[in-house]
Amino acid sequence: MKLNHLLPRHLAEGRCTDGKQHFWLPTGAIEAKPGNNIAISLYCKHCEKQEWIFLTYKEYETQKGLIENAIKTNE
Ligand SMILES: [Zn+2]
Repeated sequence: MKLNHLLPRHLAEGRCTDGKQHFWLPTGAIEAKPGNNIAISLYCKHCEKQEWIFLTYKEYETQKGLIENAIKTNE
C-alpha cells in the first residue's frame, strides 16, 4: 500500500519524470532521532526517488502497522 498520505503534499501529489503520480513505499530504514522523532526512509516505486520523512513517536505508533506491512509486502 502506498504511503503517500505520510508525505508533505508537494511530494504526495508530486509526479515522476514520466508523469505518473509518485507511489511512495518505505525502504525499510527507520531511525530514532533526538526530540522524540522517527525518521522514515521512503522511495517511489516508479521512479526510485528517495525522501526521508519525520514523524513524532506518537504519529509513528499510529502508522506503524501500515509501515511495517508495506515493508513486508514491498508494495
Ligand atoms: Zn516517482
